[in-house]
Formats: sequence, C-alpha cells, structure tokens
Amino acid sequence: MVEVEMKSENQQNDSMKERRWTLDDFDVGKPLGRGKFGNVYLAREKKSKYVVALKVLFKNQLQQSQVEHQLRREIEIQSHLRHPNILRLYGYFYDQTRVYLILEYAPKGELYKELQRFKVFSERRAATYIASLARALIYCHQKHVIHRDIKPENLLMGIKGELKIADFGWSVHTFDRRKTMCGTLDYLPPEMVESKDHDAGVDIWSLGVLCYEFLFGTPPFEAAKHSDTYRRIIKVDLKFPVKPFVSPQAKDLISQLLVKDSAQRLPLEKVLTHPWILANADPSGVYAM
Ligand code: ATP
Ligand code: MG
Repeated sequence: MVEVEMKSENQQNDSMKERRWTLDDFDVGKPLGRGKFGNVYLAREKKSKYVVALKVLFKNQLQQSQVEHQLRREIEIQSHLRHPNILRLYGYFYDQTRVYLILEYAPKGELYKELQRFKVFSERRAATYIASLARALIYCHQKHVIHRDIKPENLLMGIKGELKIADFGWSVHTFDRRKTMCGTLDYLPPEMVESKDHDAGVDIWSLGVLCYEFLFGTPPFEAAKHSDTYRRIIKVDLKFPVKPFVSPQAKDLISQLLVKDSAQRLPLEKVLTHPWILANADPSGVYAM
C-alpha cells in the first residue's frame, strides 16, 4: 500500500521534473485565490495531466514593492524542500510581464478560512496540526531554513486535510540574519519586535501563538493598537481566558513555547513528545473531519 503510494508520488514528481516551462505547457483553469502581486489559478500540465496551482505575479508590482530579492529567496528555498507538510514548489518561469510559480495544489484551501468558520478547533484537531507543523519545522531547521512567517494565512490543506506550510517569502537561511520586518505584529516574538538577532526559535514562538489561536480563537497578544500588541509581546503578557475551556496540558505546552528567551523555548523534538500532543494528536497527521 505504502509502496504503491510512493511510486505514484514519484511518477507525479517525475512529470514535474526540472525543465524549462512556458505557459503553453499548461491548461489554465479557475482562479483559486487572489494574492498581493497577482492571482493563483488551478492548472494542468498538458503532457502529464498533472494538476498544479499556478501563481502568477506581475513584475512591475514586484519591482514597485521591491520584493524581487525576497521572491528569489522564496523560490530558492521552497524548491529545495521536500516534506509532506510543506507545499512543493516544482519550478518557475517568466515572460515579459509576469513571473509564474508552479506550486503543489492544496485542494482543501486555507486553514485560515477553516478557523474563521469554526472559531476554535478541538484539542484533537489543534494537536494534530501542531505536531505536523513541528515535524515540518524540524525538517526546515535541519536544513538551516527558518520560516519566520508561520500563521493561519500561510497554511494550506491537502486532499486529506493535512497541513501544508506555504509562503516562504519571509524565510531565511540561518546564516543570513536579517533584522527588518513589516506587517502584522501578532506573530512576532520579542527578539524580532525588539529587532535583535534571531534564530530558529522564532518558529517555535510562532507555533505557540498558533496553538493559542487554534484553541482560543484569537492570537494571545492581540490588542486594538499596534503599540499595545508590541508591549504585550515584550512582556510576554500571556493570559488564558476562562472560556472556551482548554485543558491544562495544552496551556502547559503554550507556556513552554511562548518564552521570552528563545534558548529556553521547548525544542521542537520535545513538542512531539509533550503529553498534550501524545494524548491528542493523530499520529497520521490527518485530522478526520
Ligand atoms: P503572500 O502570502 O506571499 O503575500 P499572497 O497572499 O499574495 O502571497 P497567496 O497566499 O500565495 O498570495 O495566494 C493567494 C490565495 O490563493 C491563497 O490565499 C489561497 O486561497 C490560494 N492559493 C494559493 N496557493 C494555492 C495552492 N497551492 N493551492 C490552492 N490554493 C492556493
Ligand atoms: Mg498569502
């Protein structure tokens, strides 16, 4: 059974093996979503009939926002990662006005929408996701890649509902220590808010924020004003609401992830053996909906 699946996976990957692509190689179908720099379409490679997501980015918009460098890095990093919980980037091509990314298609769409729909996830579901993410991040960190932008908007779902980390736009190789950031503060750890050097511990922090948001429905340091979120992150002003009910074990894990000193955060390997994960996460990584 496993062997058959692996074979077909290899065959699929073979059909998308590195080669020169053009738009003519694809039948382009319905739009899957709208992005900041262009749209994402369902598409099928004509020869192999392999279904993918084609992300179309407009060069002039990339230039205007000065993110070409970031896009190059995203392509460079994501195309070398192979993990069941990381969205594959099969390749890219471009024409005069656009850049196209050939991405693994995530049929169940955004986790963000799922969380909006349900407000909060059950502990079984949250733990299954957190374990999958911990495994994917262990893999990234072994390759010296930090994602730095783990949040519900950047998580897609595969055909069985398994999580896929997408969007490596903010990721870095660890030797490249960047200090600047913009956008939402909610997911940033203290050392990034304070613009100090940071390491793989930032992804552990984000995992804690995500776990909190899955269970309570809002990120832990949310505040009306940017400056208040900032203050709450710096202080690690972590409070657990009385409702909805969340088990003490889950709160224990969150408390061990949301630690100011990045060296003191629970290592990802230990997340996988935390009692709450062991008691709740589905070992297959699939939350049966
Ligand atoms: P970024 O998050 O880097 O700013 P973006 O938000 O501009 O990028 P994406 O998030 O990549 O753009 O894509 C926009 C939307 O298209 C997503 O929110 C999602 O709904 C859909 N989408 C993107 N990639 C895929 C995919 N591989 N499979 C299915 N749907 C996708
Ligand atoms: Mg996005």
